[in-house]
Amino acid sequence: MNVTAAVGEQDDALRPWTEAEETYLANAAGILSPENLGRALGRTEASVEEAAGRLGLDVRCDGSSFVWCDHCATWRTRLNSRTGWCRICTMREQLRGRERACAEALAAMAPSERAVYEKTEAERQSKRLPPHPVKRLVSATPDGKPRIEEARYLAEVEEWEYRVLKLRYDAAKTRLRRMREKTGANPRKAGRRNG
Ligand SMILES: [Zn+2]
Repeated sequence: MNVTAAVGEQDDALRPWTEAEETYLANAAGILSPENLGRALGRTEASVEEAAGRLGLDVRCDGSSFVWCDHCATWRTRLNSRTGWCRICTMREQLRGRERACAEALAAMAPSERAVYEKTEAERQSKRLPPHPVKRLVSATPDGKPRIEEARYLAEVEEWEYRVLKLRYDAAKTRLRRMREKTGANPRKAGRRNG
């Protein structure tokens, strides 16, 4: 590739593009919207479009644009408009809360009860995790296929992460219910009984 560091007239940052930035742009073009590309590179949308034009890159997204989640520093398919978090971060937080409640319920158990519970629980943990998505190898063609594959993979990894967290969340929920049944603590009643 004939890459020159010439500063385009439209480059309002007046900063030449580094090779690393151009490589990033070439890989992410078509996956991230021009706005998000600019955000990722710390450049304006106009600067991104100018560089893309110069490098012959297509920055149009095929309906699969991603948004940046500040909380997990990852590109995601969407964010919650109220919290600004992606669904992975939201689920992770819910899981943390559930696991905290489990730890509390476990601590509230009598030692003998806890021993029996931990033994049966270890036997129960056989739930299979969904298979991790596989990135398909696509030969580099100018029709944008590798980028579409990249976007598909990103979205699939997000879905996989969500499903794994959801499994753990559901498992924690079930654990909590079983422990509460054992200790006789009823979460619907205001006070918690400690035996
Ligand atoms: Zn996130």
